[in-house]
Amino acid sequence: MNSSDLKKTAARLRLDVMEMVFDVQDGHPGPAFSVAEIITALYFGGIMNIRPHDPLWNERDRFVLSKGHACPLHYAALARSGFFPTEELFSLRKIDSRLQGHPFMGKTPGNDGTTGSLGNGLATAVGMAKGLVIQKKESKVFCIIGDGECNEGIIWESVMAAANLNLSNLTVFLDNNLWQSGGSVEAVSGICDFQEKFETFGWNTLCIDGHSFKEIISAVQSSRPMKDKPTVIICSTVKGKGLPFMENDNSWHKRVPTQEQMDIAREILGKEAV
Ligand SMILES: [Mg+2]
Repeated sequence: MNSSDLKKTAARLRLDVMEMVFDVQDGHPGPAFSVAEIITALYFGGIMNIRPHDPLWNERDRFVLSKGHACPLHYAALARSGFFPTEELFSLRKIDSRLQGHPFMGKTPGNDGTTGSLGNGLATAVGMAKGLVIQKKESKVFCIIGDGECNEGIIWESVMAAANLNLSNLTVFLDNNLWQSGGSVEAVSGICDFQEKFETFGWNTLCIDGHSFKEIISAVQSSRPMKDKPTVIICSTVKGKGLPFMENDNSWHKRVPTQEQMDIAREILGKEAV
């Protein structure tokens, strides 16, 4: 896809998320919107080597959404990629659905990581990356973590292990939207300079605009020659990006739109998606 088509796709995925959350009256739209361009680039920008008709293809690249509460956006990307019918998106958070409120790899076609307990997804991704090295596979592992999620000790244990294991097949996107459930990341944990921290742990680090397809795709390409280090792409993002009434309003971490807000969302995102 070219840049214009990627933008349309990101708008479509955001609108899917709003429709899903509105339908089931539950979910996390704000944290999903901040990673819309990252996930769109992974699935539609030529980054991930996957086969939607064969979700368990052994040579596939893996993706783990460690900030699992953003999963409606990932579900929308999987459906729009052809892993399952788009009508199934409306089964989100319902009894016996394949689309649980947090990702469950045993249920959802195309989902490589059971997450939601924050921090564990990165540990899973590190284990996968090491496993692929042992098997001498060319497959890559991509993982998205949140800035608030970096409060978790297991994140830093995983960061330390990945560097020590020289996992150059692991690329982590850090969704640096400056907010977490309980408030601003700066106020809650005081973690600010992620680049310095990851570099100290021995990672290859890049800082980009997480809503720029050009920067996301070129960051992944530029990290490819790395031979002995994992890469973190620190993405400056806006929580709720895409709808003016949601942007940087942390009450949208977990919130359901009103009918009036849905009308606005359909108007704005519906136009962008065409
Ligand atoms: Mg955050």
